[in-house]
Amino acid sequence: MAFPEYEFPWPDEFMKGPQWRDEPGVTGKTPVRSFLRFGIDIDGTISRAPKHFQRLINALMDAGNTVYIITARDAGRREETEELLASLRIRYHYLIMKPIEWPYTIPDFKVEVILEKDIHMLIDDEEENCWAVELRTPCLAVHMLPAPIVSEEFEGLGHHVWAEETWEQQAKDLTQ
Ligand SMILES: [Mg+2]
Repeated sequence: MAFPEYEFPWPDEFMKGPQWRDEPGVTGKTPVRSFLRFGIDIDGTISRAPKHFQRLINALMDAGNTVYIITARDAGRREETEELLASLRIRYHYLIMKPIEWPYTIPDFKVEVILEKDIHMLIDDEEENCWAVELRTPCLAVHMLPAPIVSEEFEGLGHHVWAEETWEQQAKDLTQ
């Protein structure tokens, strides 16, 4: 089955504009060095921690990786889904949606997409999907756990994570 790839629908300037990039806490992650294809689920995953995924996806894409959003929402919900991702300021290369006539299960859908697009890592909140992908594909499945609210005792750590100083300097500060 050839799943259509819906490209990121917004113009480049919009995607690179300040509304996508310059919020506190969004920039500054050190990107990974290898080029990989990542698959990320929406409901229960991105929707549960949009800020976290915005940051992760920006770092992955800036480093040259390819990001597929893989959702079991059916293709009839494309417009609504593109708008949701835009409202959460989530960038991606391709959106893959479950075909309206898909005759098999959701784990089957995820497995088929992973194999067809040769995805290296899937992030999903359904254990069923993760296990199907783990057992039937070479792709690594990562189970999305909810990110806990930052407790007060850890708030001070933010200074070291986001400050405009080198990692060496930060490491030195932390050990003093
Ligand atoms: Mg999900």
